[in-house]
Amino acid sequence: MPDEQLLDCLVIGGGVAGLMSAVYLKRYRRNVLVVDAGKSRLRLIPRTRNVIGFPDGIPGTELWDRIREHAARYGAEVAHGCIDRLERAGDGTFDAWSGEQHWRARYVILATGASDVAPEIGGLDAALQGGQLRYCPVCDGFETQGQRVAVLGRAGHGLRESLFVAGFGNEVTWLAMQTQDEVAPEDLARLRECGVRIAEQYPRHIHCTPGQGVEVELQGGTRLAFDVIYPALGLTHVSELALALGAQAQADGQLKVDAHQQTTVPGLYAAGDVSVDLNQISVAAAHAAIAATAIHNSLL
Ligand SMILES: Cc1cc2nc3c(=O)[nH]c(=O)nc-3n(C[C@H](O)[C@H](O)[C@H](O)COP(=O)(O)OP(=O)(O)OC[C@H]3O[C@@H](n4cnc5c(N)ncnc54)[C@H](O)[C@@H]3O)c2cc1C
Repeated sequence: MPDEQLLDCLVIGGGVAGLMSAVYLKRYRRNVLVVDAGKSRLRLIPRTRNVIGFPDGIPGTELWDRIREHAARYGAEVAHGCIDRLERAGDGTFDAWSGEQHWRARYVILATGASDVAPEIGGLDAALQGGQLRYCPVCDGFETQGQRVAVLGRAGHGLRESLFVAGFGNEVTWLAMQTQDEVAPEDLARLRECGVRIAEQYPRHIHCTPGQGVEVELQGGTRLAFDVIYPALGLTHVSELALALGAQAQADGQLKVDAHQQTTVPGLYAAGDVSVDLNQISVAAAHAAIAATAIHNSLL
């Protein structure tokens, strides 16, 4: 793409939100380019079962292929690269760089996603694919029915996640990492009422073995066995490019947006995990539809 071409919209990130934005904008016959670093969280999903239209589920990588194919069908171009600098010019347009490559655009949709804080667990990658380690009970708590489940998380966050996970007819233990004293006694009592056990000592060692489950050794030497572990150590929203432009965000980087997904920087929109705490494929797709349509309307 020639350096001097002014795009209607540059989409940064080519996961769910970015590609859905491109489908909408191309179908509105807009001049759009997606630049993607190729690390969508979709590639970490062994099989998603809550995407409408796929009742038997679909592996995340296959879904990503299908979404890319869908965007390509309408002529959306995806450039591989990582945007490392984004600036807003005096006339309100944007300049973006990926190394030496440069693009200019009237509008930008930031669809850069989020990343989970990974625990120190032996065999993590295989466990993620095998379903022994899961990050998202909203997505797959349903699949843990009847299983022994550990939740690894500190204080209030770990407690809330344990309560959420305990709603699926399973057997839950909160690995509290010695933060159980930081929560209110009535919350602890509620957790116990829901049948959640609390492992108070710090886990010294956690290991997942495909097909065999999760082994936890506590500092006192006690060994616990689980079928599944949910790390609940937090999430980082990938919003640095917007923050550098002065966009407002929460402490964890989640961008503030209006009803049309516009950030507090005029012309800069955000869609998907970067701007929401309900990290879901359906939410990312909906954000994209809203942002792309708002941009199209602004260009009329
Ligand atoms: C293990 C796991 C299981 C999950 N299961 C489900 C499920 O069953 N159902 C469900 O609804 N959701 C599930 N999710 C969540 C789902 O994957 C996300 O909500 C969804 O992918 C969000 O889409 P997104 O477009 O916001 O971000 P992503 O799909 O993560 O895409 C972001 C893209 O932006 C790119 N990027 C980042 N920075 C830059 C940059 N500076 N320049 C260029 N590109 C950049 C990244 O490389 C990436 O390709 C799961 C997530 C995980 C981790």
